[in-house]
Amino acid sequence: TLQQLREKLFNIDGKGYKAYKNIAGQYQGENFKLYIDYVQGDPFASPSRVRLCVAQQTALFPVDSYSTRIRNTALTDFLNRQAVKAIEKSAKGSRGTGKSGMIAVDKPGQQILSRTAVAINNDFVELRASIGLPARGRRVLGKQAAAMFLDELPQIIDNCLLYNSLPQHSLWEHIYSVEDQEHLRASLADKGLVAFVGNGSILPRKSGVSDRPLSIDKAVSFKSPALLEITLELPHAGKVTGMGFTNGVTLITGGGYHGKSTLLQAIQKGIYNHIPGDGREKVVSLPSAVKIRAEDGRRVERVDISPFINNLPYGLNTKNFSSEDASGSTSQAANIMEALEIQSELLLLDEDTSATNFMIRDVRMQQLVTKNKEPITPFIDKVRLLVNQLEVSTVLVVGGSGDYLDVADTVIMMDEYYPLDVTRTAKDIAARIKTGRNDEGGTVFGSIPSRIVDAKSINPQKGKKRKISARGVTSLQFGVYTIDLSQVEQLVDISQTQAIGDIIVYMSKNYLNGTTLAKALERVYQDIERYGLDIISPFYGQHPGDYALPRLYEVAAAINRLRSLRIRG
Ligand code: ADP
Ligand code: MG
Repeated sequence: TLQQLREKLFNIDGKGYKAYKNIAGQYQGENFKLYIDYVQGDPFASPSRVRLCVAQQTALFPVDSYSTRIRNTALTDFLNRQAVKAIEKSAKGSRGTGKSGMIAVDKPGQQILSRTAVAINNDFVELRASIGLPARGRRVLGKQAAAMFLDELPQIIDNCLLYNSLPQHSLWEHIYSVEDQEHLRASLADKGLVAFVGNGSILPRKSGVSDRPLSIDKAVSFKSPALLEITLELPHAGKVTGMGFTNGVTLITGGGYHGKSTLLQAIQKGIYNHIPGDGREKVVSLPSAVKIRAEDGRRVERVDISPFINNLPYGLNTKNFSSEDASGSTSQAANIMEALEIQSELLLLDEDTSATNFMIRDVRMQQLVTKNKEPITPFIDKVRLLVNQLEVSTVLVVGGSGDYLDVADTVIMMDEYYPLDVTRTAKDIAARIKTGRNDEGGTVFGSIPSRIVDAKSINPQKGKKRKISARGVTSLQFGVYTIDLSQVEQLVDISQTQAIGDIIVYMSKNYLNGTTLAKALERVYQDIERYGLDIISPFYGQHPGDYALPRLYEVAAAINRLRSLRIRG
């Protein structure tokens, strides 16, 4: 029982820190069970890991608050946020050296992601927390530790794991909002849409470093042009009206600073569900949407980029292109081909982050630099083949080249943050003023890569230890390598980055044997769907660590950027 833990802690008071090691184990509290799964080695080391588990007979969550996958994600996210608040309220904080006194759980941001921080099922609800066992210098502070376990933790539990003590109105609002967003996203394909932006949405963010909404008094809320307006039905909120982005090629144009990139960025994040009040609760896009950008300097390992790049100097082979330091255009080509390899159905491009020579090649350049001297087939000449042959749509921001008017199905012009449908005018202009370009795209798009990874080339060992550690959202230490994810724009949470590392290992252990990368990833995600995200943890069955679910596209992006990666062939 917890009383026994208390006695243990009193007994080791004043002893060396290592004495904490024997408190590992499980203890029965009044209304919860405490599992101390891991005890840290010293007050500065990564904190101890505990689970707080309340039986459903006590927690009393109604079955329909967690019974479907999406409700489970929504509810556990809500409880996670409550836990953050409860800890702020009840934990005393620092109680000595290093991390002494700390109580922490994973902290969600604007997106609602499936996480390991809270688990709920018919039997129990469980919070996975980190604790800094208190010490002065390296001496155990047993009484303080007892206060953390016997006073603070029970209070925290009372404030976040018991259904009847929670703000039920906001709990259900949270669940319904997520369910609506999921439904909206799932209904896109049937309606022939690739994205939807609801009227009234707030797209701009507070700043380049904050994902919170720009305040209402500064933001222009979204309003669809009448011609593109569509009304959809949601299970809870009823009718929602907004702009539908249809299959095909959508061009977002308009003057500089009129909100083009902001709209595209909202669509980029439309793969995620957002918390109520975020402003993007009615912005959704196809789950497989991938932002494509130039990324010079990245590594590329044996990718077929021949649909876009051919006849490089020195006869470099582009059906099997590798580079330790790719150029703007070759990196952008590789990013597209890698997205197609794992079946993305929607590419998102912005001129701000694209290589100009990858996007356009106008008639004068076609005459000056003849086709046999230019390795690049520009995107403009492949974008229709993507739609017509592969059913891959594109939404792209181009303010600087009218050549794209020829290939767009829909042209939107941003005008002081309001989108206008200018498709008719654009088509008239395109008919009146011919570009005179030659289409260099040929009659077929070209082949899509299907690569088999050499499992040995994926190794998280560093010396004798396995080292997988997210250094931030955009940097993942993997063995002796650091994977740079700073250009992988749809990654949003450090716990996703951490999960990517362990998913890569899980995949290479279980599924890489001779299967293609795409197939192996698919299998991993089937496992996660079936057994939960805990399955990727080396500590499965205990506190698994703090993970949030990334998409397989971001996992693939990390693999593709790992500098030790070898592709078989
Ligand atoms: P563009 O890509 O057309 O040059 P941006 O999307 O980068 O323009 O937007 C320019 C600025 O306007 C940014 O600071 C952005 O936050 C702000 N902004 C974008 N959309 C809105 C909006 N709907 N309301 C208020 N400010 C906005
Ligand atoms: Mg821009």
